[in-house]
Amino acid sequence: MEAKTLLAQNKLRVTQSREEVLSVFLSSTIALSNQVIEQQLDHIDRITLYRTLKTFEDKGIIHKVIDTTNKHKYALCVDGCTDHNHEDSHIHFECITCKNTSCINEVSTPELNLPPGYQVNSVDVIVKGFCSNCSN
Ligand SMILES: [Zn+2]
Ligand SMILES: [Zn+2]
Ligand SMILES: [Zn+2]
Repeated sequence: MEAKTLLAQNKLRVTQSREEVLSVFLSSTIALSNQVIEQQLDHIDRITLYRTLKTFEDKGIIHKVIDTTNKHKYALCVDGCTDHNHEDSHIHFECITCKNTSCINEVSTPELNLPPGYQVNSVDVIVKGFCSNCSN
């Protein structure tokens, strides 16, 4: 999938920064923090990057990834996410060694049986361990 195609599918105007930021996500297998994206696109200003990420999140192109480093990270959404409606129900894996966080799309978050009166809005599961690059 090309960045331009994905932008068009989501009815977003193609701008240089949108195309560049999306390309970074498309070529990455791990969740990315603002700082990492800034490092890769050194001419992009912080406000533009912030707005671009917000637009992508609103459109269901990327989702926030929670991990224990307290950095906001984002990753590409897989099928099912649309405008203001994310369907990401997979777990995230945080590596103890390299600190990378990745989406494990093959494993869904568990269905929770909560006491009466509690309503689930979202479930975030972070699994910590050693990723495939660090485990051997
Ligand atoms: Zn999503
Ligand atoms: Zn690792
Ligand atoms: Zn994810």
